[in-house]
Amino acid sequence: MKKVVKFGGSSLASAEQFKKVGAIIRSDESRRYVVVSAPGKRFSADTKVTDLLYKAYGLVEQGEDFTEVLEEIRQRYQEIIDGLGLSLSLEDEFKKIAENFRDHAGSDYAASRGEYLNGIVAADYLGYEFIDPAGVIIFDDNGNFDAETTNEMMAKRLEGVEHAVISGFYGSYTDGRVKTFSRGGSDVTGSIVAKAIKADVYENWTDVSGFLVADPRIIENPQVIKLITYKELRELAYMGAGVLHEEAIFPVRKEGIPINIRNTNAPEDPGTMIVQSTCNKSDYTITGIAGKKGFVGVHVEKDMMNTEVGFCRRVLQAFEDNHISIEHMPSGIDTMTVIVHQSEFEEKEQQVLSEINRLVRPDTVNLVTDLALIAVVGRGMKENRGTAGRIFSALAHAHINVRMIDQGSSELNIIIGVANKDFESAIQAIYDIFVSTQI
Ligand code: ASP
Repeated sequence: MKKVVKFGGSSLASAEQFKKVGAIIRSDESRRYVVVSAPGKRFSADTKVTDLLYKAYGLVEQGEDFTEVLEEIRQRYQEIIDGLGLSLSLEDEFKKIAENFRDHAGSDYAASRGEYLNGIVAADYLGYEFIDPAGVIIFDDNGNFDAETTNEMMAKRLEGVEHAVISGFYGSYTDGRVKTFSRGGSDVTGSIVAKAIKADVYENWTDVSGFLVADPRIIENPQVIKLITYKELRELAYMGAGVLHEEAIFPVRKEGIPINIRNTNAPEDPGTMIVQSTCNKSDYTITGIAGKKGFVGVHVEKDMMNTEVGFCRRVLQAFEDNHISIEHMPSGIDTMTVIVHQSEFEEKEQQVLSEINRLVRPDTVNLVTDLALIAVVGRGMKENRGTAGRIFSALAHAHINVRMIDQGSSELNIIIGVANKDFESAIQAIYDIFVSTQI
């Protein structure tokens, strides 16, 4: 059994946290490849090391003195080193970083040093080999991640390596210049390593005990999702459910390697298992609920529209020409509605409307503004009769007017549009009918 374990910034923010991580790794000998983030926040008002690095490099670019901020970062690492009782010195590393800052090595280089240094500390603490991902995780000349070359390089680099710590978040161009993923990208690194070594599982350790059925800012103490498929996760993540970097699922998904979200502060919790497919049913018919506010529905009506070949295409053309991406498109016999982000639409509203008028000569075009979309996601929905009925009766009981309904063709989700002001109470009503009443 081989596991890749990735620890996020809050799991490695202090010596105390490092000790928890050490205990987790030592408790299971299959945890052989460790991917680390930079030290994160120790308390809510704290600053992540990555943000301090961006700040320091911002000063470099403005021609100002960055040494004070770099010293603050150095102290963060020194505190961890001292707290762990290590004799490691990062003196030379910090000298080199300061030199490279003066040479304008770039903000990606600057940001990556958080993971680089934390990798050195973690490797020293665990007695594992340290692996710098520059030269192993590869980006092409356009800055796109090169999955194929990376997989080869990573597999080769780890061949015969029994235990290793690999810094997350970055790789390099073929010429060696450092390039980072987008923020939170150490999750992607973990997935890349898991694929390369054909891990049995990719454990992603963070500070929550997994994905929650609904947003805890809306629902008090929501239940944890024990098991979720990659597809369900995509639907929920798209609608704003965080925890894992969106791109982290791609490398492992193709290999069918499960991701297990775990909590460093509650290691006995089983967390959430993310799998390719499963015949295990969700606990509550639905797997999760997520949503976003701030949409607008452009409602186009024309008698006999269904007989006009190319009608929909021409309506969509008006959006494409104005570079507005489309979220959903529920339609009727003589109507179609195009749902878009209100903030994107507002700026180009009149251009889009006049183009629709010109291209399809509709009877009417109405705008439904301040819409919130809620996705109710669950692999179990297609087998269960009455799911939609339960959702709508719960909303009716809560006096919420449903403005739009769209069932995804995957039958994995039902998307409901309600007024922005009803967003929270709609989520509460759906959560209650499927989850609270079942506990
Ligand atoms: N340290 C980086 C960030 O703060 C990457 C990561 O933690 O995954 O975004």
